[in-house]
Amino acid sequence: MLAILKTKPGTGLEMKEVEMPEITGPRDALVRVKRASICGSDIHIYKWDNWAQNHIRPPMVVGHEFSGTVVRTGSAVTRVSKGDYVVAETHIPCEKCYQCRTGRMHICRNMKILGVDRDGAFAEFIVVPETVLWKVSLGIPEEYASVMEPFGNAIHTCSVENLLGKTVLITGAGPIGVMAVQLARVSGASLVIVSEIKPYRKRLALGNGADVVIDPTEKNLVEEVMKLTDGDGVDVLLEMSGSEKALIQGLEALTKGGVASILGVSSKEVSLNIDSLITFKGITLHGITGRDMFKTWRTADQLLKSKRIDLSKVVTHVIPFKDWKKGFDIMMRGECGKIVMEISD
Ligand code: NAD
Ligand code: ZN
Repeated sequence: MLAILKTKPGTGLEMKEVEMPEITGPRDALVRVKRASICGSDIHIYKWDNWAQNHIRPPMVVGHEFSGTVVRTGSAVTRVSKGDYVVAETHIPCEKCYQCRTGRMHICRNMKILGVDRDGAFAEFIVVPETVLWKVSLGIPEEYASVMEPFGNAIHTCSVENLLGKTVLITGAGPIGVMAVQLARVSGASLVIVSEIKPYRKRLALGNGADVVIDPTEKNLVEEVMKLTDGDGVDVLLEMSGSEKALIQGLEALTKGGVASILGVSSKEVSLNIDSLITFKGITLHGITGRDMFKTWRTADQLLKSKRIDLSKVVTHVIPFKDWKKGFDIMMRGECGKIVMEISD
């Protein structure tokens, strides 16, 4: 089968023919990958940055966001069967640790990640344990199902607080940030402000329904937020940029007693004044990792099935598998929402 691999340490990836993966455990399923989308972490692996060097052991098939069809199941599989239309939670929990046993599988202590710790989804076939498979409602297009994983990140980040009537600041209008824009609106937020620095992404935020988009390199974000909220500051901060500056500005723009939900990954230490930005403001801070298994998958499915959320405004490119390099180039320029590859029919 055709697959995209990190064949050896260093920059870049390669498309090549590899052996079909085999079902090894009784609870494994073999899935034919139909659509797969490129994630920021695939770019880290492509660039071979510090994080990638510490996590990836080549040769390895990369990629983790996908939708597909079950082709074969191990002897003990009961949750899915041949022909099922599925997506996968990409974090594989151990189901044994303290966190897993107490309903918090998203913070499993022995988590394995598809396309990072084991072969991933930029391939015609993938083997995954049935635990992580989610049957998708028929009628949800394959390219949208492929991005249900990052959509789940957006849902998880937004769901820590009831947004009804609240003013919300989203820092960073990447694909997940703009999905959060739509979610905030659907949840009844009274004002959705976005801060973003790239022109393409500013337009993307407006296209997804942001009330106001502010470029913090052109205007003072905190002053602008104060003007828009009668001097109160926003009720909720959704940090989706991974930028230290954006996090600090976001906390400054948050009202006293506000809620901050942090998804962005900064990859380095961040320095901020905890006293003035968190403690004395009485801020509630939520760290968001992955998706809430499997609550967010159910929510994602329902929101897409009902068309309450329109991912046509987020999936900006659908490209043939063989054009994967173009997709990676566009991603690296940030001139896109989600890029989905057509892996097979
Ligand atoms: P992305 O990198 O495509 O989007 C981030 C956006 O933030 C970009 O458009 C960028 O221009 C913007 N930005 C950068 N600096 C900024 C600043 N100072 N002010 C305002 N905007 C700024 O990423 P994405 O795929 O949308 O993901 C969003 C974030 O969530 C990333 O940091 C990603 O690493 C992280 N993430 C975390 C998890 C988790 O489990 N915690 C999962 C997936 C993604
Ligand atoms: Zn666990």
